[in-house]
Parts: sequence; C-alpha cells; structure tokens
Amino acid sequence: MNASDPPHPLAFESVTRRFDRSSRPAVDGVDLHVGAGEIVGLIGESGCGKTTLLRLAAGLESPDAGSVYLAGRGVAGEAAPAGGEVPPERRRVGLVFQDGALFPHLTARKNVAYGLDRLARGDREERIAKNLERVGLADKADRYPHQLSGGERQRLALARALAPEPDLVLLDEPFSHLDPALRRHLREEIRDLLGQLRQAALLVTHDPEDALAIASRVAVMNEGRLRQTGTPTEVYRHPIDRYCAERFGPANRVIDPATGGERWLRPEAAAWKAGENGPTDTDAHPVRVTSVRPLGNGHELRVRPTEADPAHGETWICLHRDPETAPPIPGDLGRIKWSPPPSERS
Ligand code: ATP
Repeated sequence: MNASDPPHPLAFESVTRRFDRSSRPAVDGVDLHVGAGEIVGLIGESGCGKTTLLRLAAGLESPDAGSVYLAGRGVAGEAAPAGGEVPPERRRVGLVFQDGALFPHLTARKNVAYGLDRLARGDREERIAKNLERVGLADKADRYPHQLSGGERQRLALARALAPEPDLVLLDEPFSHLDPALRRHLREEIRDLLGQLRQAALLVTHDPEDALAIASRVAVMNEGRLRQTGTPTEVYRHPIDRYCAERFGPANRVIDPATGGERWLRPEAAAWKAGENGPTDTDAHPVRVTSVRPLGNGHELRVRPTEADPAHGETWICLHRDPETAPPIPGDLGRIKWSPPPSERS
C-alpha cells in the first residue's frame, strides 16, 4: 500500500482471540485486510474461527493480542485509542446475519431508519427510500418482517446495513437459510449491488459457490489461522494443500514427475481417453476405472493410476462429458491427461 492510497476499510494485524486457556485460540495470529471496494470471502470448516474474526471487526469480541483497524484507525487490541476500544455503534460497520436479525415489531421502513437517527428528518426519509429502492423493496416499506419472504428479509437486512453508509459491511452466512435457486439469485444481486456501490465487505460463508461468485479475494481459514488467500481463480485452481483444495470441491492429488511435488488438480482439468497408452502419449497417466456415476450432463469417473504412475494408490475423479462416446465401465483401462500438465502450473 502506498502512502497516498486510502486506508484499508478493515485490517487485522496478528489478531488472536482465545476463549479458553486450555484449548487453541479461536483466532490465531491473523493478518488480513479488506481493501477499498473489495469483497473478501472468508471460508473454512465449521469451528475454524470465521464468525469470531467477523465479530472482532464488529466490536462484538475483543482481541487478546494484535490490532484491529477500521478505515486506518486503530479500534481494538494494541492499536485501540487511549480511552479504550471503539464500541460497535461507533465503528461505521454494517452487519448482515444469517437470519437477518431484523426487528420483528418494526416495519421495513423503520428497520432501515434504525441507525439513521442523527440525520435530519428529510435526509432520513430520503436515505430510507433510496436504500429500500436499491434492494427492490420500495413497494413493501410498510410491511413487517414476517410479511416478507426469506429472500426479501435478507435484502431488507442489507438495506438496513447499507443505509448509514458504513465504511465496511460484514455478512455472516447471509444466504444459508435460503433454498438453492433463491440463494444463487440473491448472491448475484448482492454482488452487483456491493460492486456498484464499491462497498468494502467481509463475507463469512461455508459455501464455496458464495465465496467464488461474490468475493474479489478469498481467504481460507483453518484452526484459527489463514492458510491461503487469493483471487477466486487462484484458490480454486491452485490450492496449496488438501484442506484448501477440498473447500472448493473434489481435487486430485497429482505428483509432478519433474519435482516430486504435490499438485491439486480439479476434475475438469483431467481429459479422459479410453484405451491404453499409445507411443505418442508420453504425458498421459495410465489409469483403471473403479466407478462411474451419472451426473445428468455426463458421468463422473473414479480412476486409479496404475503401478507405473508416481501417484499409484491415489483415487482421482474426472469427468466424461462426450455425448459421442459411451462412458467407460469399472475395470476399463484408459489414460488421463492434465491440462495444463502439473509441471506447467505455478
Ligand atoms: P461455523 O462455521 O460453524 O459458524 P466458525 O468458523 O464461524 O464456525 P467460530 O464460531 O468462530 O467458528 O468458533 C471458533 C471456535 O471458538 C469454536 O471452537 C467455538 O466453539 C469457539 N467459540 C466461539 N465463540 C465462543 C464463546 N463465546 N465462548 C467459548 N468458545 C467460543
């Protein structure tokens, strides 16, 4: 970051949070930032510390070590102001939770008005109308949360979070209560809206599709630590280890014959060819099919490299999507070609 760049909306510096002296910290020495206009997706298995990290940014938890900065200002931990930590309501952070956490006894309009009490009446009304409009709820302003669908409630929660024009929005599993089709639809809407507003956000999710579809950068967390951060393409195509690979679906462990190093390659990077190796197939791995599963738009093959391959003993997953040829059956011999080959991957 150059001195002339705007400060990061959020930065964690070596942040640790330990709930219980006898067990490992829930968050363990995390360094992570969310840059201006950036959406960072935080993904990892249950209990790895995602929500705790988000709560540390919101001021709902305090770090035991390290510092939390919002818009360049120390708010908690070693960088906290002399008077103590900045409380949640003074952090200029908007929150969207799994269940929306709306006020059930207030209409949509009044839910959005919450947090705008410092604005003059006219400005407040304008801000409410603008934010309900943004999320497509202008005509439902007088409904109570129970009179809205699940997707509408989450859109209202987003409108409420955005209305005070926060420096940062924190989203904790905002789609987890929605059915898959609505989830896909809403995730696109939210990504587009946050993108148009250049709104910095930290999104906690279990769902790889949420992280890959919404985030400009993804952070993979395990046992309180960050294991890998990168663009969605980087973390999907070039996971650094099994844990990071498995967060985003099946991955095949392949040994690079040149270096002996491990690579984690996705099923769609494997081209299946029936029959044994021909003389021109020097970079193909001979395999035997162990199982075949229909997918609707093709078949998933499980194959084992034969004894000749350094990865012998692994099971690989690849796809057969050629409508012109019949899929193989268990026991068939074939070849796998990786595209690009493991040795050409950085
Ligand atoms: P999930 O995806 O299941 O929501 P997570 O990755 O968000 O999990 P956290 O909720 O951050 O995980 O929890 C991390 C660890 O800290 C867990 O072991 C959890 O049991 C523990 N933990 C969280 N909050 C508290 C608390 N208030 N008191 C004690 N332990 C806690």
